[in-house]
Formats: sequence, structure tokens, C-alpha cells
Amino acid sequence: MAGLVKNYVQALFDLSVKAGELEKNMALAEELSIDLLGKERMHYLRDPDVFVEEKKKRLEQAYKDKLSDAMRSFLLQLLAENKIVLLPDILPEFIRAAKRRLGHVEARVSSAKPLEDEERERIRALLEEKVGKPVNLSYSIDENLIAGFYINMKGKVFEASVRSKLDDLREKIGREDYGAYGIEELSTVIKEQIKAYSQESEFEEVGVVLTVGDGIARIYGLDNVMNGELLRFSNGEFGMALNLEESVVGAVILGSDRGIEEGDLVKLTGRMMEVPVGDAMSGRIVNALGQPIDNLGEIVADKHLPIERQAPTVIMRREVNRSLETGLKTIDALVPIGKGQRELIVGDRQTGKTAIAIDTILNQKGKNVRCVYVAIGQKSSTVARIQSRLREQGAMDYTTIVFSSASDSSPLQYIAPYAGCSIAEYWMEKGEDVLIVYDDLSKHAVAYRTISLLLGRPPGREAYPGDVFFLHSRLLERAANMAERYGGGSLTALPIVETQEGDISAYIPTNVISITDGQIFLEANLFNNGFRPAINPGLSVSRVGGSAQHPAMQKLAGPLRIEYAQFNELAAFAQFGSDLNPETQAQLNHGERIREVLKQPQYEPLDVSHQIMILHALTQGCMESVGINQIGTFQHALIHMAQKRDRELTREIREAGSLTDDLRRRIDLLVEALKEEKFSPLLTSSPEEEPGL
Ligand code: ATP
Ligand code: MG
Repeated sequence: MAGLVKNYVQALFDLSVKAGELEKNMALAEELSIDLLGKERMHYLRDPDVFVEEKKKRLEQAYKDKLSDAMRSFLLQLLAENKIVLLPDILPEFIRAAKRRLGHVEARVSSAKPLEDEERERIRALLEEKVGKPVNLSYSIDENLIAGFYINMKGKVFEASVRSKLDDLREKIGREDYGAYGIEELSTVIKEQIKAYSQESEFEEVGVVLTVGDGIARIYGLDNVMNGELLRFSNGEFGMALNLEESVVGAVILGSDRGIEEGDLVKLTGRMMEVPVGDAMSGRIVNALGQPIDNLGEIVADKHLPIERQAPTVIMRREVNRSLETGLKTIDALVPIGKGQRELIVGDRQTGKTAIAIDTILNQKGKNVRCVYVAIGQKSSTVARIQSRLREQGAMDYTTIVFSSASDSSPLQYIAPYAGCSIAEYWMEKGEDVLIVYDDLSKHAVAYRTISLLLGRPPGREAYPGDVFFLHSRLLERAANMAERYGGGSLTALPIVETQEGDISAYIPTNVISITDGQIFLEANLFNNGFRPAINPGLSVSRVGGSAQHPAMQKLAGPLRIEYAQFNELAAFAQFGSDLNPETQAQLNHGERIREVLKQPQYEPLDVSHQIMILHALTQGCMESVGINQIGTFQHALIHMAQKRDRELTREIREAGSLTDDLRRRIDLLVEALKEEKFSPLLTSSPEEEPGL
């Protein structure tokens, strides 16, 4: 409403209230506006050739004694100010304002055929009883209803049409699994449903689509919608309410927006966005809605959980005290991860981020850890490759893949990690250990940015909306190590974030670094130089995992980190000098072996006991005499030897509190045996095998 009109409406309203003529003037205004609309005789009011005095006279004549004092003075004032042309705008607003003050409620009745007066009265009585106020009805015909009617009152709808019942029935039948029923039983079920419907005729809240496009619908009505609530469009598609404005709701459409048009009805479902959860999810690939996409048949879920859930409280948690082994030497030794921890994997594109996560999943085999891999905005071919690798190595049995592809709509990509988290949480709450990988959150943030821009939210830094921090914090906060009293399960999260040119100070990486308990930083430089996994030990940290690390590993890792850092400095310096004293030479020699040992091929995670054996041999200087390019073979041979000669050793190391003298001796014996026996040719390093600096 334009400001000027608003002022006049206010003036008329105040005048009427003061004179105690509000109700009378409202009726008058209705009469006037009908006249203004329909009858030729009011045209003179707007005719510039008619003098104001003449207009006044004719107006008085037309309404003689009908005009109240307030209305008369108002009209005369309008005429005097030459603003009578605004009258058609002023009157409806005034009527609305007056009705609101008098407590009238507007209701729109649509029916399949014209209603009899008697029916109209019955409806009015019914509605007035419901709201306890006078109701103004307006009528329209809508043949789509088939039979019956619906009433739209203040965004609420009283449904009594055949169409809506058919819709509901269709949806109900579609949702439940009637596959097991025979035809006979099915018809009984349908009859039951119909009977249930004829008894319940309740007020339902319904909105109307104002605009639709780009997967976003703006909906009028729906006063009582919840943020994140699932909405059902009249064509059966679902949406999720995201922007709750004063009278309009912005919603994302979860399927296609093709069948949705302006004016379509939208119903509240009273449910939040949910996903099926349960043991049946293991071994499956599902989309962001939890529906299977692997052609392995239906999933019989234990139950459904909302995708947005509150994170466990402080009381429900305990400190991280058990390690989650990745099977990667660099990580388990230098940036150990504990169960319930959130460790970010961050690096440029194609630096082996996904590889680390997949190796970690592979390493959970036989360790009673369920895994959920959430692929966001990735190519189907990449995910297919990951799945077949997991299946090959027997890791798919305990893994669920939640996949929303790059071609899925932004809303689906946006909800995928939350859906995956709820699937994982179900197991955590049952006391199991779960690992979840979000690959990757940069694409997730981009999907959210798209939605936000389409919803008209103001863009902030790098065009992301202001709440992009909350987007990831509320997701990662759900990772936890639960206290014994709450089942003692855990949810470990490995979010992945992609950087541009190694820039970890960009918006999304800094956000996620500040939310997580540490990060594994991958460098393109290292990767291209063949140092894989390309972890930069200097920039990688784990803030809580250390306390959960295997004690023997902890002891070995301390000196390793320092020696390796010293080596890196020395190596940079030694590039320039040719004459090196023997001490420095030895240090370089040792450092190179450390670097070599930290390399690890993809898909070959190592048991922590094997890692300890290798690192022990390394720190004892047993590898000094091994040629650099034989280090890999040496490690394999050592493990092989252990399996052959000392079968119990692996288990004992794993269970031991620390590396006892006995265990040390036994590892040393294995190394001796390696040197003496079968692998002796391997250990006689010829000078040309010695690497140049
Ligand atoms: P993107 O940014 O495309 O998601 P990414 O950072 O996830 O890439 P990956 O897909 O994991 O990187 O790895 C990139 C390539 O490097 C792959 O071909 C993978 O096989 C190879 N690779 C990863 N880790 C290793 C490794 N430890 N040893 C050898 N090759 C590796
Ligand atoms: Mg990747």
C-alpha cells in the first residue's frame, strides 16, 4: 500500500473510531466501493472537467442521509485536496482494517458446484463456531474438487472435497509397503482408510504457491510451519521450508519443480525431513532421501529419524579415549585420530584426500566400526569406482554410501550430509562405533550458497550467506564419543575440504578448521614429488587423538616427528654444500629412510602392530643399511617374517600397554633373521642404490 493511501486509510479509520461509526462506515465503504466499481454514475468523481463544487453536490445527492458525519467530512476533504482518485484504493484497505478491528475473519469457500443459501449458512455457522468471531465468506467454483468443498480461512483449510481424499489416499498407499498383501487384503485396507477419512474432517493448514522456479517455491499462508518442515505439493512432490518470512515461506523442492505451478496448494506434513535408518542400510548406496539407488531392492528400515537432530550434550559425552586407526603410518603415528573425533582432511584437488578416507574405511574391516561415506556433488563414475573397490576388499558389508551426485539439485546436495549423519547416529546411539566421511564440504557449502541466493538471502563473504558457519558446525557437532551411560558408542567424522592453490585461509577451510579437532593437510607439491599420502606433517595436527594413541606408537612417534622435522631443515640446507661431515650425513641418511617409510601405497592400510614393528625397526636404525628403493620391500618382508615366525607377536603388540623388552627383542630377532636369511641380498646395498642428495 502506497504511503499516501495508507495515511488516508488511517485518517478515515481514526475519524470513524472517534465518532463511534466504524461498523457503519465499513458497511458504507462496501457500498461505495461496489458503486465505484460497477456504476457509471460515479465517473464524474474522477472527471477533471467537473468542478469540485459540482462533485460535492452530486455526491450529497446520491447518498443523501446515508453518509455518516465522519465519512462525509472525509470525502469532502478528499475532494478538496483533489485526491478523490485514490478512493478505489482507500476503501478496500479501510474495509480490511475495520474488519480486523471488529474481529471479522475472511474465509474463501471453493466448491465443486454452486452452494445453496442454506449450505452457505451452515458453513458460516460452522466456521463462526470454530473461530468464535464473525466470518465473512466469499465463494468460488472449482470443478477440480470433483465433489464437496474446501474453505481457506487465514491460511488454514477445511477440506471436505473428494479430490483431497483421493490425494491423501494415494499418498498413504504409496508410502506404505503393501507388496506383501493380496488383492483381497488390499481392498480391505483401502476400505479401512476410507472409513477413517470420512470420520476425520479437520482443519488442515494449507498454503498457496506464489512463485516457483530454480527448485525454489515461495508459498503464501502456512502460518504454523516449522523451519525445515516437510511440505507436500499438490502434485505429490515434497519440499522443505527454509525461509520463514512474515507471510511468505521460501521452500526448496526436493524433486523436480516441473509439475508445480503458481496457485497450487501446499500442505504441511507435520514431519521434519526424515531418512530411514537401521542395520539394513549397511552395504547399500542411497540418495540424500535415504532411498536405495543400487538396484538391490527395497530397504526395510528399523525406523525413520529426522535429518536435523540435536547434537549430544556435554553430559552425554566423554573424552576421546579410544583410537580409530586409519592404517596409514603417517596419520596413526603423527596425527592420530580418536573415536568421536572430528579430523579435517584438507588439500587441493587431486591430492589424495578421498584416498585417505577410503583407506581408513578399508582399515576398519573386522574392527566393529560401521562406516558411512557421504559423497556430495561428485561424479557417478567416481562413486562407482569407490564402491567396487570397497566391495572387492570386503568393506562394503559395513559401509553405507550416501550419494548426491553433481547432477542432483542443490537442495539434495545440501541435505545429504545431514541424512548420512542421522543414519550413522542411529548406530552410535545403539552403542556402536561409527565413522562418517563427508566428501566434500566445499561442494556442500556451494550447494547451500546456491539455495540461499535463490531464496534471496543476502550474500556475505565470497557470496556465502552469513550462516554458512552454522551449516557445518551443527553437522560436525554431532560427532561424539558417548559416555558409558548413554551406550558408549561413538561417531568419528572425517570432513573433507578442497582448497585452491593450497590456500587454507579461504572462508570455508578456516571455518571448518576452527570447528574440527585437527586437520590433515595435503600438499600438491609433495604429491607430485611422489610423496604419497602427501601429508605435510608440519601443518597437520590432531588436538585430541594423542591421548587415545597406542602407547607404543606414542613413544615411537615423538622422536620420529622431531627427527623428521630436523631432516627437512637439514636437507634444504645440504642442497648447497658438498662437504658434509659424517654426522650430518648419517642424519640425512636416517631422515631419508623416515620419509621413505612414511610413504604408503593406496588401498594398503597396515595394522597398527605392523606399523609399530616397522617404526621400531626404523628408529633402531635397522634400515640404515637398506637401499632407499628397497625400503618398501623391506617393510613387506618384515611383516611377512612376523606372520611366519612369530604368529602371536602381532596380537601381543596390539594388546600390550607399551613395547616391553620382550616384544622389542622379538622384533629385533625378526629383523636379524631378515638380514641373515632369505632377504640378505636385499640388504647388501650397492653404492648406486644410495640416493644422491
Ligand atoms: P579430488 O579433488 O578430485 O576429489 P582427491 O584429493 O580426493 O581428488 P584422490 O581421488 O583420492 O584425490 O586421489 C587422486 C589420485 O591419486 C588418484 O588417482 C589416486 O589413485 C592417487 N593416489 C591417492 N593416494 C595415493 C597413494 N597413497 N599412492 C598412490 N596413489 C595415490
Ligand atoms: Mg576426492
